[in-house]
Amino acid sequence: MPVNTADTQTTEEPTVTFSELGLDARVLAALADLGYEKPSPIQAATIPLLLDGRDVVGLAQTGTGKTAAFALPALSRMAELADLNGPATTPQILVLAPTRELALQVAEAFTSYAKYLPDFTVLPVYGGSPYGPQLAGLRRGAQVVVGTPGRVIDHINKGSLDLSNLQYMVLDEADEMLRMGFAEEVDKILEATPEEKQVALFSATMPRTIRRIASEYLRNPQEVAVKSKQTTGANITQRYLQVMGAHKLDAMTRILESEEFDGVIAFVRTKMATEDLADKLKARGFTAAAINGDIPQQQRERTVENLRSGKIDILVATDVAARGLDVERISHVVNFDIPHDTESYVHRIGRTGRAGRKGDAILFMTPREKYLLRAIEKATRQSVTQMQLPSLDSVNNRRIQKFTDRIDATITGQDLGTFREIVEQFAAQHEDLDHLEIAAALALMAQGGRPLLMTEPVMPPSKKARLERDRADRGDRGERGPRRGKTAAEGNAMYRLAVGRRNRVQPGSIVGALANEGGFNSSEIGGIEIRSDHTLVELPAELSKDQWRALSNTRIGGEPINLELDSGRKPRRDDDSDRGGYRGGRGGSFNDRKRSGGFRGDDRRGGGDKRFGGRGKDRFSDSARRRDY
Ligand code: ADP
Ligand code: MG
Repeated sequence: MPVNTADTQTTEEPTVTFSELGLDARVLAALADLGYEKPSPIQAATIPLLLDGRDVVGLAQTGTGKTAAFALPALSRMAELADLNGPATTPQILVLAPTRELALQVAEAFTSYAKYLPDFTVLPVYGGSPYGPQLAGLRRGAQVVVGTPGRVIDHINKGSLDLSNLQYMVLDEADEMLRMGFAEEVDKILEATPEEKQVALFSATMPRTIRRIASEYLRNPQEVAVKSKQTTGANITQRYLQVMGAHKLDAMTRILESEEFDGVIAFVRTKMATEDLADKLKARGFTAAAINGDIPQQQRERTVENLRSGKIDILVATDVAARGLDVERISHVVNFDIPHDTESYVHRIGRTGRAGRKGDAILFMTPREKYLLRAIEKATRQSVTQMQLPSLDSVNNRRIQKFTDRIDATITGQDLGTFREIVEQFAAQHEDLDHLEIAAALALMAQGGRPLLMTEPVMPPSKKARLERDRADRGDRGERGPRRGKTAAEGNAMYRLAVGRRNRVQPGSIVGALANEGGFNSSEIGGIEIRSDHTLVELPAELSKDQWRALSNTRIGGEPINLELDSGRKPRRDDDSDRGGYRGGRGGSFNDRKRSGGFRGDDRRGGGDKRFGGRGKDRFSDSARRRDY
């Protein structure tokens, strides 16, 4: 049945109260304890429909209270059913959420709303944790199960999740779930549930796949969309710094040294980059740690706890690993790598300015990424102001200030007794030495061999200079680098581009396209071999999804390059049997993968990096991204 878009409501600020919505008194009592004063717009619009038994598609930005929008009516209805029939012993409510963190958050919310409901148990089930407690929980009988799709499927297959009595099903953060490649699992789960049930689908955006799921599995759903007036908090100051990739670390160091900060999250694009940047910041004396989808959940939680308690100050994260993170002391969000869509930007900067505090969002942008900044400004309807790199002097002045503050604090706050005697004796034995000189020597010792002052860093030559140098090295033979064969160096792989001499491509335009669209630096681009109808290029074996995405839209001389791993033979575009891995491995082009319905990776349970199955309408428009070389 089609989604009932004719009835789509765009809601205004509601004036109703929770009790006017018709919720059960015990649920209202829990809300009063939580201090919820009035329903948010999405809640006001969807709660009456859901209480009425309607299927609903609810669209609203992150942070608009979608959890309560589906949880409150569900609990209300189940409580009233239990009054009639006695407590249920098998799950009545099933919520699917994309990641373990979100599943836990939803489960916690349910628990708090169900505070005054007797015999109500909520059980979160997710991947990456042992089955035992989850199985025991299911055996004891939970009325609400909140889980990630992968683990829910596992429990269905094991027979441990009895869905025969299911009354109410929720797809939460549906867009995210599909982006992570869970479409197939969601289909399977929906098919495993009884025909007669109520379904609610909540999402921040409405890509086509969601429309498909809604029309396939929801009965005459009412669609409710809440237009957000402002997507980003007014208490967050947004600035950008124009900086070349190679200078980002230095820029971040200077900023951290010249601004007052409490907790910081730095966002990077790849898992590898999280570790890399965290290590480099640690080497520069900051307390930093990385979180990404490959890091075991327990360790991730410990890291977030360390950030919360102040044991570390800087968290370096990928988008998904930090999604929904709520740590009050985060004063700064640094977009070390620019996000590729505006929605991620809004999610990212929403990690600061929590609990009514002020927050600072800083965006690093290379000159070529300016169009992304424009798209962000357009979508958030806010301007991001340019900032200047703090000067060396200002950084050093602060370092000196901090150092002398430490001297002060030591003199006033510490017992100098023994050291005073030692220095006194030393000075008496070296009458020729000025006391200042002795103090300076001690200061140097206190600094532990690290230079106190920052010096102008020796920057790698600019990309342009490097390209020119490389060109000179090649004597402009038209080919690049020494490797002419098809074997790639360690850590690299051969890729095939569907353009060649036929299309009159030049090595320069290939390097330019790869460097700009794929974000490679010149040293990452190995040998280039231009053949008549295709080109072989040596690139890092591991490409991030962002790089695949960017390069899939790249054209050279008007022709799409259709980047794929070179299998050493003609690509068989229509043969699905030879679909290689997402990273490295054999064959398998970006387009093949897209056709097969989203990416797969072993990290997707429990929240790895975002997958993108189908392009949502919130992505930057193609015309903005697709540039020709
Ligand atoms: P979303 O799923 O839309 O991103 P959440 O459901 O996670 O948003 O809610 C965001 C925050 O707002 C949560 O901390 C939640 O407790 C709080 N919240 C939700 N509804 C209300 C309300 N009516 N009044 C006050 N706080 C609310
Ligand atoms: Mg939510």
